[in-house]
Amino acid sequence: MYNILHVGIDDTDSSNGMCTTYICAVVLERLKDCGLTLKGEPHLIRLNPFAPYKTRGNGAVAFKIVLKSDEEIRNTKRLILGVVEEFSEVEDPLTNPGVVFFTGEITKKMQEYSLKTVRQMVTMEEAEKLAHDVKVEVFKYKNGRGVIGALAAIGCPLPDKTYELIAYRKVENYGKKRRIDEDSVRLMDHKTYPETFDNVDDGYMAIAPHTPCPVLYGIRGESKEAVCAAHNLVEVKEPIKRIMVFLTNQHTDLHIQEASAINQMEMYQCYRVNGQVKDHPHIIEGGHVIFTLEDASGAIECAAYEPTKRFRDNVRQLASGDELVVYGGIGTKGTLNLEKIRIVGLKKQYNIFNPRCDCGKRMKSAGSDKGYKCPSCGLKMADAPKEEVEIERNLKEGFYEVPPSARRHLSKPLVRIYTGR
Ligand code: ATP
Repeated sequence: MYNILHVGIDDTDSSNGMCTTYICAVVLERLKDCGLTLKGEPHLIRLNPFAPYKTRGNGAVAFKIVLKSDEEIRNTKRLILGVVEEFSEVEDPLTNPGVVFFTGEITKKMQEYSLKTVRQMVTMEEAEKLAHDVKVEVFKYKNGRGVIGALAAIGCPLPDKTYELIAYRKVENYGKKRRIDEDSVRLMDHKTYPETFDNVDDGYMAIAPHTPCPVLYGIRGESKEAVCAAHNLVEVKEPIKRIMVFLTNQHTDLHIQEASAINQMEMYQCYRVNGQVKDHPHIIEGGHVIFTLEDASGAIECAAYEPTKRFRDNVRQLASGDELVVYGGIGTKGTLNLEKIRIVGLKKQYNIFNPRCDCGKRMKSAGSDKGYKCPSCGLKMADAPKEEVEIERNLKEGFYEVPPSARRHLSKPLVRIYTGR
């Protein structure tokens, strides 16, 4: 008789270091040393990007182990909790680890809770009530907030999925400059894109984080084979301690909810919504590009923030009346932070000029209500229609997205849409 033990872990790291995926990698290594078998790949689940207590990317991990006896279950739980206690950054006031164990089939309620945690805010009470109802065993450290994410990680449905291979550094290199050969990353991208993606941004390597965490780099792609092949092409000048391939909800747009009207959208949630550009976009201090999107129900301010770099150049070209589908999340100030846009209709824009004279020159105003006068031949016209000249637009209908360096973990890159994923 075999048992499948579902394990979820979250909130073990701080902004000074560590990483929940690393703790997962250590746990799995130790379990393997004990001769235990993992069922499938470990899952790296990204949760609501607006969750207030996140350290960075709001990620939680989950995995399943095949166990043969109650004793094995007990020992496995003890081993996992031991690793979490050993490696969690519990001295950090914002680190509140949570670990959950569950044997049985993931229920619909657990999946719904998980989707809610990806898309909305949930409370500790909600998480603990569900855990109690479906008999999930919960371990909390400090205030145990990590239970929210740990429970979501074990129940997350993956109607679409991607993979991430993470290469980890040796402890002595934490905090030091990452020694990765950039040319090899460009070559790897050239050889494996679009089966892997977001490796390079504007010619620069995009696989390495900028934090002092144990991660050397992460390669994201469509299959385990693709990310492993890409990893073999990357040349590094520092030792790699271990690698781990995660199945993830990254880059699937799982966080995006369909809003049928602008006034139905709420703060700290992410949406896809249709609307019309109300005003011409303007630039505010800091280089952020702002415009208002409206529909029959209301209006919302949309922003392409400075880190979205060249995406802002496209957003700046939008004009009043353009029809859009926008994707993004609503932050603290009620502004929708754009992840991508689809232009479904470009409204014709015109420059308005005074009429031309019979002699070919452009007429000038002869004063208020006095019609026009030609500056060349002196001809006067009491009234004449203004001339409308269509402005050539520098945009086409279709999708525009933020560059990889500004992309949310959950946001689906256009290449995945274009390749039918
Ligand atoms: P890293 O990406 O480096 O692993 P992190 O950004 O994942 O760090 P955590 O340390 O895991 O950040 O902190 C996020 C906290 O927010 C966790 O305690 C998690 O349980 C909680 N949380 C996650 N999603 C939600 C949500 N939708 N509503 C309320 N709390 C949430």
